[in-house]
Amino acid sequence: MGNSSNSLTSTSSLTQPPPPPPPPQPPPPATTPIVPKIEPKLEPLDEPLGSHTEFLQSPYFSNPNPSFSFNSQPDTPFSEPDTDPNAPTRAPDNPSEENNVYSEFYRVSELFRTAFAQQLQSYGDVEVMDPDSRAIVPVPEENRVSTVVVTPARRYPKRSAELVRVTDLGVEDQRYFRDIVRRTRMVYDSLRIFSIVEEEKRRLQGGLGRKPRGDLKAASVMRDRGLWLNRDKRIVGSIPGVHIGDLFFFRMELCVVGLHGQIQAGIDYVPASQSSNGEPIATSIIVSGGYEDDEDAGDVIVYTGHGGQDKHSRQCVHQKLEGGNLALERSMHYGIEVRVIRGFKYEGSVSGKVYVYDGLYRILDSWFDVGKSGFGVYKYKLVRMDNQPQMGSAILRFAQNLRSRPLTVRPVGYISLDISMKKENVPVSLYNDIDNDHEPMYYEYLVTTVFPPYAYHHRGNGTGCDCVSGCLDDCFCAMKNGGELAYDQNGILLRGKPLIFECGAHCRCPPTCRNRVSQKGVRNRFEVFRSRETGWGVRSLDLIQAGAFICEYAGVILTREQAQVFTMNGDSLVYPNRFADRWAEWGDLSQIFSDYVRPMYPSIPPLDFAMDVSRMRNVACYMSHSSSPNVLVQFVLYDHNNLLFPHLMLFAMENIPPLRELSLDYGVADEWTGKLAICN
Ligand SMILES: [Zn+2]
Ligand SMILES: [Zn+2]
Repeated sequence: MGNSSNSLTSTSSLTQPPPPPPPPQPPPPATTPIVPKIEPKLEPLDEPLGSHTEFLQSPYFSNPNPSFSFNSQPDTPFSEPDTDPNAPTRAPDNPSEENNVYSEFYRVSELFRTAFAQQLQSYGDVEVMDPDSRAIVPVPEENRVSTVVVTPARRYPKRSAELVRVTDLGVEDQRYFRDIVRRTRMVYDSLRIFSIVEEEKRRLQGGLGRKPRGDLKAASVMRDRGLWLNRDKRIVGSIPGVHIGDLFFFRMELCVVGLHGQIQAGIDYVPASQSSNGEPIATSIIVSGGYEDDEDAGDVIVYTGHGGQDKHSRQCVHQKLEGGNLALERSMHYGIEVRVIRGFKYEGSVSGKVYVYDGLYRILDSWFDVGKSGFGVYKYKLVRMDNQPQMGSAILRFAQNLRSRPLTVRPVGYISLDISMKKENVPVSLYNDIDNDHEPMYYEYLVTTVFPPYAYHHRGNGTGCDCVSGCLDDCFCAMKNGGELAYDQNGILLRGKPLIFECGAHCRCPPTCRNRVSQKGVRNRFEVFRSRETGWGVRSLDLIQAGAFICEYAGVILTREQAQVFTMNGDSLVYPNRFADRWAEWGDLSQIFSDYVRPMYPSIPPLDFAMDVSRMRNVACYMSHSSSPNVLVQFVLYDHNNLLFPHLMLFAMENIPPLRELSLDYGVADEWTGKLAICN
């Protein structure tokens, strides 16, 4: 693991500035004075401040409580001392609402406690967690009771004003920081999904009809735990571990990883009061389009400053060279780059929008101009710096075109527009613009794993739940999963487990049941493509949300004896027991709860079969190996109850942008490169 401090180069030139040039002066007011809203520039996609009151009054930050040492931080995330000093007070005292949030906090803690302290039942001479005799698994001792104690977090320091630029990270360092960002984002998603699911349960039980804001709650809990990244330094330039093209569904997540520290403002900056030279310095902006005076041409942006708008976001008075406007002007003066994040509306996104990190830009020009409203606005010309990977927003657009008219966008390179021959719900294309290799065409496409007939003649067959109108957490199938369904309302995996029981043919619930996810097959358009680095690889034309089902890893099951014969013949096989237990990372909340225990139930015996993919295979077979994969293997049962023969279902471990290669941890060291041996 690298030492990050070696690679932090202090931008000390900031402390010795040449005298600043006189800032441009706005023209005199054209109309009678109107009092503008003085607050940071809002972006059109963002919600009004009012809807954030629950979070603003979160006890984790806003109201010290003597019984909790972790409540000692007096400021909210939005009224930090280092943000715009002119910003209005955003956390009015309201004791009753604060009490509500306290009780909410206790409730969440209690839910975690009960979730890990499973109900035990005696069954014969073993204790099991559910009465289904077909899936009896002894409960391990350490899993029986787990009292989750919410340990006090350290007092969290306020956001630092120290400006640094992180440069020249070695490969080791890059991997290290990427891993930290990945884990942090997994914790964020797990907390977010968990709190939404719990809120929905409460609603079903006739509780408060509040709209769940898991995005806020997750950020709140993580800040309380000191899990927000990059708070001890103000990073100019790229954030270690965040790649160009990375996708975020929530503004709060940008704060959590330190990419953009303002919950609502479009311009993030170190204010003058915190800056070592007494001048504000901009670090990042969010461009959401739709700002009437913004012009976004991709590599070149004309960005409008903030201020002077009424409550309907109409310009009603001239802007001033202050706050973020002055910071952008000063960044231009010193030649300091800013990070650019673009926000889009995005259909199918969990939040209805998506934020994509597009890389670093320099501010080349700034001027005071008359905007479309007739009022004076500050404008900044930003130009994207050279030698950066392609913009994530451009890739999103390209993938969209590719989905609708592939042959127009890429006239050459397609070998097949659907190697599954309509066997999958959506086409799987085969693309090679590198060489003449057509190998994937020679295999029969297999949608789902072929089990030996005796796998179905297991005594567990024939049992199911009786939920005619869809399954809930108290149904038989939920009990088989340890008392909770494995997915949220959108089919997102809540947390990885050794095994998941989906509803099956013997359940009376409809196909729309929430506990039927992986059995429905693929939903994203995949492409098997030829790559110089990894041979054949797989990428999606669609954006895949973290926790979403991707596809099955399909093959023809061989017993150990059959496999030995095959191996003697030199055929390559896939061994399910060799895949790394990446499922354990998804939903792992050990950073939040010190005695978090990874789910041990339902457990399965060691898997003793191999899968033959020498003649029949599916898209999964072409996925590359990675030691920091974006796809995990989750064992699932649905069409039979035989624990010896689970399906290998693949789920996304992070938000996967379109056209980014999918990778799996085959659990192999260099001596056994599974995918390479099998498919190349
Ligand atoms: Zn069901
Ligand atoms: Zn059910």
